[in-house]
Amino acid sequence: GSQKNDSHISGRVRVAVRIRPRNAEELIVDADFGDCVELQPELKRLRLRKNNWDCETYQFDEVFAETASQKRVYEVVAKPVVESVLEGYNGTVMAYGQTGTGKTFTLGRLGEEDSADRGIMVRAMEDILSDISPENDSVTVSYLQLYMETVQDLLAPERDNIPIVEDPKTGDVTLPGATLVPIIDHRSFVRLLQVGEANRFAANTKLNTESSRSHAILLVNVRKVGRAKPDREVVVLSENGNCVQVAKGNRVPTIRKSKLVIVDLAGSERVYKSGSEGHTLEEAKSINLSLTALGKCINALAENSPHVPTRDSKLTRILRDSFGGTARTSLIITIGPSPQHRGETASTIMFGQRAM
Ligand code: ADP
Ligand code: MG
Repeated sequence: GSQKNDSHISGRVRVAVRIRPRNAEELIVDADFGDCVELQPELKRLRLRKNNWDCETYQFDEVFAETASQKRVYEVVAKPVVESVLEGYNGTVMAYGQTGTGKTFTLGRLGEEDSADRGIMVRAMEDILSDISPENDSVTVSYLQLYMETVQDLLAPERDNIPIVEDPKTGDVTLPGATLVPIIDHRSFVRLLQVGEANRFAANTKLNTESSRSHAILLVNVRKVGRAKPDREVVVLSENGNCVQVAKGNRVPTIRKSKLVIVDLAGSERVYKSGSEGHTLEEAKSINLSLTALGKCINALAENSPHVPTRDSKLTRILRDSFGGTARTSLIITIGPSPQHRGETASTIMFGQRAM
């Protein structure tokens, strides 16, 4: 059913926060300084240090400490969305945060050496593949990059201006011309992600940019054929008076189509000056545009507003049929522990709070 819990009815976004461990540099350079946040995972709370004597406390749906496993993050953040997709609803899982805080680690790790490392994309596909019947059902995947308000096909990089089309009747969003690859097993999916990643690197080198300046969007289309139901039933009484249903007529298969969208968002850090750290002002404007538009949509969902303003950016236009309504949405915000990035960490936390 579509109304299993409040978050599903209201379209509210589930928001989790994950902190990554200190990296080697932070262990040395910031050795004398405490982390900028203090986690209280059992209370699902996080305290952000404002200064030496003052903290601000924030509540989330889930708070993952440095030690949280990929498995647990998947189960809390993504599994409910995947289950809902398998029931025929659309769903979205997004990672938001400053570059270097663990968005790709959380979503995109392949875990080829150790399956415990597998991220949300691979785990979601495992659950989808184990649920569907290979004879009747199908899973197809597109993998795209959204850079400077242009959609590029990461599976066919020459297709670098994919349109976004919305069916006026059904509201379904499609990207005509984007490669659709049928996925039959874990291997074929891992290969697809590897090809996509290689193409993304090559495309961005050509554009003289970094992957942190674009959004990576994985679209998973699930098509399930329901158990055939007879189109009419005749009730016959048996000799002992028990009611027996006898199926007659043609068997009509029910087809359910749904879509899971997984978005590795561009780095949320604010870029103030043109050319700073190699980023252009145009890139920064484009990222600000799409993340601001996303923030507005998420706020509208949080407030249960009937109008979700999805028209303002290509990112939100792509997501239009995959959040709000019956769709289920999870947002994981990723932060680092370093006191040097307190400002960015604070703004990431605020983005997550506004979605609650
Ligand atoms: P982003 O995609 O947000 O820019 P990455 O996922 O590339 O960040 O992570 C930056 C670095 O931090 C990588 O080397 C990654 O392996 C490491 N890292 C991120 N999250 C974790 C984590 N939870 N545990 C251990 N290492 C992590
Ligand atoms: Mg990344």
